[in-house]
Amino acid sequence: MGFDIHILGTSSARPTGSRQVSGSLVVCDDGVAIVDAGEGFQSRFAVQRRRMKKFGDTQIKVGRVDVLCLTHGHLDHTWGVLPWLHTLSLDKREKPLLIIGPTSSQVLDSLLSNSKLPEDISNSDLIIQWRSWHQLGGTSKQLGFPVRWILGDVENDRWIELMPDSNSVVELEKMPQPKGWSENKIKALATNHTVPSCGWHFSSKGKRGKFDRLRAAELKLTEAQRAGLAKGENQTLESGEILSASEFRGPDSGVISVVLSGDTSEMSKGITSMDNCDVLVHESTFLDEWSEHAKNYLHSTASGAARTALSSGTKHLVLTHFGARIKGAEEMLSQADQELEGSQVTLSAASDGDRIHVSDSGKISHHYWDEQGWSS
Ligand SMILES: [Zn+2]
Ligand SMILES: [Zn+2]
Repeated sequence: MGFDIHILGTSSARPTGSRQVSGSLVVCDDGVAIVDAGEGFQSRFAVQRRRMKKFGDTQIKVGRVDVLCLTHGHLDHTWGVLPWLHTLSLDKREKPLLIIGPTSSQVLDSLLSNSKLPEDISNSDLIIQWRSWHQLGGTSKQLGFPVRWILGDVENDRWIELMPDSNSVVELEKMPQPKGWSENKIKALATNHTVPSCGWHFSSKGKRGKFDRLRAAELKLTEAQRAGLAKGENQTLESGEILSASEFRGPDSGVISVVLSGDTSEMSKGITSMDNCDVLVHESTFLDEWSEHAKNYLHSTASGAARTALSSGTKHLVLTHFGARIKGAEEMLSQADQELEGSQVTLSAASDGDRIHVSDSGKISHHYWDEQGWSS
């Protein structure tokens, strides 16, 4: 199926009449990942599930959610987490849930040495929020299902696990992947915001083309000949005819990848260090007229998002996280478009409920939501 990204909120900082705050789903064959869950997330998730049931081609079951990836600790990205965890508990979830988010190297050091948190830590650092959620019932023991709490210093690729029920912290060798995921991988990308932050990168492993069993059966090949062809070795038949292994496989599907940026200034290192990305969903809080604001608050303008797309091998850029002053997305689109002129990068702007799909073969489509269903 590739990746289906559901964008459930496209407003920055606070909800407006037509846009809610951040929260997205990334659906793939392995399961569902949630990226950020701002205020009201679980209601929007429920609405989207009903829409999928009525208009969609697949259903998104809550039980398929394996991982919650947070981009940073600002409340418009996190305030919906704890209520949603409580609902999972009421629904008697048993399946483990992985929760991953960024913090600073100083916070990791103090947690590992069991000392006080740094004095200058922001109230929005995830460690502060997570500790308060744990006090309010957000631990495996209190929720009744296993939750793993993973914090990372993304830039230095250092990871720890908090175990609130035993009040301990363990250092990890690497960032864990969701349990049972075999075809797709998640990676954190360092971004640049007023608190520790990261973007989230999802990639498929790519699949080998299908073996032509029918033809192998028609030719009455032996088990050894079949196995050889399947491994990529040409086979010589008794008649002297040579069978080329490449003719027995359909085309391979390449690696596909999608990135959701979270809040960040333009050209953040983690994102521009990529050389290939099918879809980049990037924040675009301000128009160019407010580029000073973007610089001061470490957000991006629409054209800044476009510059980031150009430097990261992106094929399609989706703008989101619009400031409350932005009425429609047209101006955003035209400023980003100007920056992308002459490039191959395509562009769209997200509204709440939209889906962006990348197929296994890399075909990209933006499906716009309205009350009649989705249209491309
Ligand atoms: Zn935000
Ligand atoms: Zn923020």
